[in-house]
Amino acid sequence: MSLTDLTIAAARDALRAGEVTAAELTEAHLTAIEGAGALNAFVHHTPDVAREQARAADARIKAGDAPDMCGIPIGVKDLFCTKGVASQAGSRILEGFLPEYESTITEQLFTSGAVMLGKLNMDEFAMGSSNETSVYGNAVNPWKAGNSDANLTPGGSSGGSAAAVAARLCLGALGTDTGGSIRQPAAFTGITGIKPTYGRCSRWGVVAFASSLDQAGPMTRTVRDSAIMLRAMSGHDPRDSTSADLPVPDFEAMLTGDIRGKVIGIPREYRMDGMPAEIEALWQQGTDMLRDAGAEIRDISLPHTKYALPTYYVIAPAEASSNLARYDGVRFGHRASLSQGDGITEMYEKTRAEGFGDEVQRRVMVGTYVLSAGFYDAYYNRARRVRTLIKRDFETVFADGIDAILTPATPSSAFELGAMADADPIQMYLNDVFTVTVNLAGLPGIAVPTGQDAKGLPMGLQLIGRPWEEGALMDVAQCLEARAGFVAQPSKWW
Ligand code: GLN
Repeated sequence: MSLTDLTIAAARDALRAGEVTAAELTEAHLTAIEGAGALNAFVHHTPDVAREQARAADARIKAGDAPDMCGIPIGVKDLFCTKGVASQAGSRILEGFLPEYESTITEQLFTSGAVMLGKLNMDEFAMGSSNETSVYGNAVNPWKAGNSDANLTPGGSSGGSAAAVAARLCLGALGTDTGGSIRQPAAFTGITGIKPTYGRCSRWGVVAFASSLDQAGPMTRTVRDSAIMLRAMSGHDPRDSTSADLPVPDFEAMLTGDIRGKVIGIPREYRMDGMPAEIEALWQQGTDMLRDAGAEIRDISLPHTKYALPTYYVIAPAEASSNLARYDGVRFGHRASLSQGDGITEMYEKTRAEGFGDEVQRRVMVGTYVLSAGFYDAYYNRARRVRTLIKRDFETVFADGIDAILTPATPSSAFELGAMADADPIQMYLNDVFTVTVNLAGLPGIAVPTGQDAKGLPMGLQLIGRPWEEGALMDVAQCLEARAGFVAQPSKWW
């Protein structure tokens, strides 16, 4: 087996046993990245940082001081500020921005010895579901459909992270999820990704999209790996007032493999019109797998689900329009060249028109509109009220004894790049139909690869858990993973 095929858990054990060094693991991945330019997953390469971190990790391992992530090569979504390393959020407006500081999460990972291979492609400011809004051009899914040679989307917005993990360019990657950006790309590429409870991980130093929805999370090839990586990322941060002051459990130790007696809810509102039969069948198979593992299956209702997408597409743009006001050509990155006589207003206008892509501009306009004096109550306040109702739906079923909820992760498998180019933007937003509720309610949600469609493409299911119970959620996810036995890999064409 090649070093790039290891899981994080296996690599950790091999490192500690002295069977491999962090330097060797790192070189194997740097070589894999060099050969994978066609995937456009890594957009800023940091081999020098990686080699230096690997050397330090090897010294720590030798000294017997090796936390779980010590010596593990990872990729970092371009949304995280990394000190002295380009951090552009996939946008032209942050061209040339080299942060003076390290995000809390990358700092925690580095403190535990992780090795950064580089920064990963993503939709601009994490707005998108196909990685096509990126200033770097889209990342490409390593999977292909049947005999077709067409390039597929890896999903978005964490498309580069998903492609890199699936193509074995890194052992794990950082993603972020505001409405599904970890779970949808994970499902499209046959990997696992968890969005933790809102507040589990610090948002400090993560470029803000919609602050009340954004959460970072790990994207890995197994549930165990997600448990390991999430632990290293979690914890209270005095610099983020929304990060929770709660102890971080050893998530990996909570993977018991025994879910007998757990109650799994199947929400009837997630059975959507026009859902492909294959997704419907997969959901049924997943239900059967959890029943076979000893769980009790119960039909449940989450009645406000149908309002989730419109609610999200009011709240997220509203917060984005406010967060993105800071990109003014003065403080960060790109500034448009000005003509004689231009004043500060022209500088703002030209910089923002040049620096932001179409989708970002659309969101800023929608957000500004729903927050404007005349429409604030009709849109923004109403959306906030509906958000409370959506959250209450979940609270009710959890109070009734439901431990986790099983749903499809996405309404389809990966689609062709360019397929949505002329479509109404709402078509793209429909990708998030199963995932946005989880962000609106602040809950943990995980995507688990569960099967393949007729074209051989991966399909995933989503499990939604109680707040702060990521460990119990991953325990159920690992049972699903084990029973689904998803071992397929993309065949290498890049
Ligand atoms: N696709 C969703 C959007 O465009 C979700 C993005 C995300 O989770 N960052 O808003």
